[in-house]
Parts: sequence; C-alpha cells; structure tokens
Amino acid sequence: MNSKKVKIGNVYIGQDSPISVQSMLKIKSDDFKKNIIQAQKLEKAGCDILRVAVPNFEAIKNIYNLKTKIKIPIVADIHFDYKLALESVSAGVDKIRINPGNIANQDHIKLIAKICNEKNIPIRIGVNSGSLERKILSKYKKITPEAMCESAIYNIKLLEKFDFNNIVISLKSSDVKKTVIAYKAIFQKINYPLHLGITEAGTEKLGKIKSFVGIGSLLLDGIGDTIRITLTSDPVKEVKAGIDLLKSLNLYKKNINLISCPTCGRTKIDIISLSKKAEKIFSNFKYNNKNLNIAIMGCEVNGPGESKFADIGIAGGNEFGILFKKGKIVKKVEEKYLLKELVKEVDDLLGINL
Ligand code: SF4
Repeated sequence: MNSKKVKIGNVYIGQDSPISVQSMLKIKSDDFKKNIIQAQKLEKAGCDILRVAVPNFEAIKNIYNLKTKIKIPIVADIHFDYKLALESVSAGVDKIRINPGNIANQDHIKLIAKICNEKNIPIRIGVNSGSLERKILSKYKKITPEAMCESAIYNIKLLEKFDFNNIVISLKSSDVKKTVIAYKAIFQKINYPLHLGITEAGTEKLGKIKSFVGIGSLLLDGIGDTIRITLTSDPVKEVKAGIDLLKSLNLYKKNINLISCPTCGRTKIDIISLSKKAEKIFSNFKYNNKNLNIAIMGCEVNGPGESKFADIGIAGGNEFGILFKKGKIVKKVEEKYLLKELVKEVDDLLGINL
C-alpha cells in the first residue's frame, strides 16, 4: 500500500503500517457507563481504532470518559453540526469523521480543518452512497461508483484548499460490487489512506459474507489501510471478524495464526472438536500481539511434514499424539492431554504466565 502515512492517536495507518481493525460503539450515547464498558470490551478484543457517534453536545462526555478509560484512539462521528466536531477536538478526540453530504457550508468545513490542523488530528471523509451531495446526485441521476468518487475528490480538494491534507477516505455502499469499483477507482487517483467497509452489510452471517468478499478482494489487490466489518450485531463480533479476515490473508501480523488440517480417513482423533477448542483458547486477549504459527493436524504420518512452517503443533496418533516444533517431533503425549500440553508449550514459548 503506497498511501500516505496518517497518525491517529497512538496508531498509524497507511504506507507500511499494519492494517488496523475498527469498530463503533453501539450503546445509546447518553448511557455513559455502558459506553465505557463496551469500549473496554472492544479494546480487549483487539479493536485498533474506535468510532463513537456524537449526535449532540451531551455525547461529547463519552469522549472525555473514554480518553481516561481506554488507550486505543477514538474517532468522533459527526453529522450535520460542525460545532460538534470542534467540541470533540477540544475533548481530545484522535480523529474526526465527517459525512461530506451533510455538512454543506464551506466555512464550517474550513473551521473544522483549521482546528484539526492545529491539533494534528486527521479527518476521514466518509463518503456514503446514501448521502451524496445533491449536485453530484443530480449530475449522475443515481448512485454510482463514479458519483461516490467525485464526492470524495470534491471534498479532498476542499480540505486541501484549506491547507489540510491529514486525510483518510472511505467510500461505502451496501452494494458490494459498487463499493469495490469505487475503491479501485479512487485508489488510482489519490494517495491518502483508505478505510474499507461495506455499509449496512447486514446481520452477522450476511454481513460477514458481503464484507469478506468486498473488503477481501480489495485487500488482495493491495488496496486498503484500515477496515471495519459492519454487522448488525455486537461490535466485538465486528472486531473478531476483521481480525479473522486479515489473518486469512496473512495481513494480520499481531496474533496467533492457527492452522488445522481438514482431516481424512487417516486421523484417529477428533480433530474437529480439538481445533475448535484450540481456536477458542488462542483467541484469548492474552495472545494478542503475539506472533506464532500453531498447527493442529490429524495424523502423525503427514501432519508434521505438511505443517513444517508452523512453530509448534500437535498431530493425532493411536491413543497417543505427538507434539512437534518446526516439523520435528519433540514428544509423545497421551491423546487426552494433547491440547493441554500444546497450550503449556505455547505459553512457555511466548513467556505467558497462566
Ligand atoms: Fe489427513 Fe493426516 Fe493430512 Fe490431516 S494431516 S488431512 S489426517 S493426511
């Protein structure tokens, strides 16, 4: 990704930075206590950047609260009222997201740009197919990827005119194909970092499919610097899905990479339940920011060889299984203790105290 590097609090996005996973608080903005609890859960789950809706001035209290309770950067989501953006910056927010279609007054955008420049706070221009500028909509007659691109370019130029270039762009639509085309087009035209997402993607199941197809195909083409899997569900699930997507493309460098064989007639142990248990154990937050390839393989005949690249793994045998490191057998373990032994060895390797 050849994009410009942008700093959001203690996280960098763009250029050679790891792709960050974002989510958004989904608690009513006046329930300050629950907002803190959800934010802490998201931070623990591996969320890198957290967006919070700022629908009114009272909601700014969430920014003050969160700044003392979590370490990950906070993005204020602003619609319509530019003064909410100014107040959010004063409250210490790390990034502002504006929806260009609904802050039309250029003087207001200029003021937001000025205060963000003074504090070195980036602005995300969050183009959303549902709220394009009227003049762009009347030119294209309907929502098209070209119209979304034009909205983004128009707003980039506007911010640049006000000497502001600490910019991140997103071009979201609920239509996967349109979104992908729009991102591909804007990628050719600008070098600001891109935040990827499919908006209103849907329920947990459908939303994941749409997001994985859309965001995944862009990431495979080297497009995208930060992502959000938007689900009509618990935001922790958005974070987990985002991490899983990045892991599946080897773009998530900060976590345990678990591989498991599909099993076949050679296996004599229940690899399916073993891998599920392992997945649950190694998704615990204590393994965040740890780098290790772990293999769960069905048989000792092919397992260690097929997963030679793994740092550590287990393979099933006949009542006994084996534990191996880098393809070399280290010890034989009674089948019922295989997973326990693996976890113990992994924790030793990573220096984690249970
Ligand atoms: Fe089959 Fe063994 Fe390969 Fe698993 S590792 S798929 S059990 S041959």
